[in-house]
Amino acid sequence: MPRAHIIGAGIAGTATAIGLTRAGWDVTLHERATHPEISGAALGMWPTAITALDQLGVGEAARAAATPQRAGTVRRHDGTPLATLDAEHITRHPGDHVRLIARRDLAHILGTALPAGTIRYDRAVQGSADDVARGRVGAETGGTAGGSALADVVVVADGVFSAHRTALLGERYRARYTGQSALRGRVAVVTHEVSETWGPGRRFGVTPYRDGTTNWYASLDAPRGQRAAGGEVALLRELFAGWHDPIGQVLDAITEDDVMRHDLYDVHPHLPTYVAGRAVLVGDAAHGMTPDLGRGACEALVDAVTLTRCLTGAEGRPRAGDVDGALARYDRLRRRPTQRLQSLARGMGRVAHARRLVGVRDLLLRVAR
Ligand SMILES: Cc1cc2nc3c(=O)[nH]c(=O)nc-3n(C[C@H](O)[C@H](O)[C@H](O)COP(=O)(O)OP(=O)(O)OC[C@H]3O[C@@H](n4cnc5c(N)ncnc54)[C@H](O)[C@@H]3O)c2cc1C
Repeated sequence: MPRAHIIGAGIAGTATAIGLTRAGWDVTLHERATHPEISGAALGMWPTAITALDQLGVGEAARAAATPQRAGTVRRHDGTPLATLDAEHITRHPGDHVRLIARRDLAHILGTALPAGTIRYDRAVQGSADDVARGRVGAETGGTAGGSALADVVVVADGVFSAHRTALLGERYRARYTGQSALRGRVAVVTHEVSETWGPGRRFGVTPYRDGTTNWYASLDAPRGQRAAGGEVALLRELFAGWHDPIGQVLDAITEDDVMRHDLYDVHPHLPTYVAGRAVLVGDAAHGMTPDLGRGACEALVDAVTLTRCLTGAEGRPRAGDVDGALARYDRLRRRPTQRLQSLARGMGRVAHARRLVGVRDLLLRVAR
């Protein structure tokens, strides 16, 4: 039976583990954290991601846990609409929409689709690049080092700050700070519209969620690591004072405990390949992108099903004979489209925060509506 080691039990690693396990591979998923992810705000899942979840056998469970969104509006801070974004329109498939799912629900659905014991928590993989490229990983469990059986493939799914990416491909392929910091959370306020509102150096988004709550997010131009001395809530209220409804209502209701803050990074420059020997990169390790298009996790799911298909063939049976050819096919199918999305996402983030030529930006968006 062909064997895979997977480094990192985020969305990319767990989804790949499901695909390969269902295709009959012997999979070990190494995760450095000691327990499953339990926090995190909501993720937008585009139709291609829902199709990928169907292919992994968990689409129905994800639909049941998700809230569909029909369309979103981009606005100016006074509420003037600039553009409407609609999955049906963009994908040209009637009935398609984006679904919002809590990150912890998605992690639970993916994690429980795996046979018990597949995920090994508290195992930080540290093997040398040569070992990993040959199919061997060394992991440290609770401070004790241990080796592993040789695998046909090592799937590198250790996220945007991937140490294995830089070890395999070079120090220059690091995560790059975008100059923007994101704040987000969920609050018990009822809203009726999906909207993202753009202003100079900042933006604010709201998405109605199930059970009468609202998922909100903001992003700001900020130096790396900066945190508000007087608290994030006070900063948000000051920066977004006077912006259109329901931003004020949301800000009135949030408390410091509701706010999560992360600086935004992407992988730059684009990688010359997603494959190094028997090692293959998926998810943010390969193409970490800014959240501006809401596509990072979606593309991680598509990576997982594409890699599974390449490694198992159309028949979906275990196949380990031509791993090199399968990984080259995966690279051909996934590198260009995901790198295009990386560039588009970063460009979108810059336009949303534009301080200059705002009139031209707004005009272009209105024409595009
Ligand atoms: C503010 C924000 C909003 C977003 N919104 C959306 C959205 O709406 N829609 C969308 O599709 N995407 C969104 N994204 C992107 C999405 O969160 C990521 O693309 C996705 O989580 C990447 O998953 P991953 O599995 O590749 O990486 P990660 O989730 O980072 O998982 C990597 C895992 O590897 C583990 N690990 C790291 N090193 C090791 C090691 N040496 N050994 C073992 N384990 C290791 C880590 O502990 C972690 O569990 C958003 C991102 C942000 C920051």
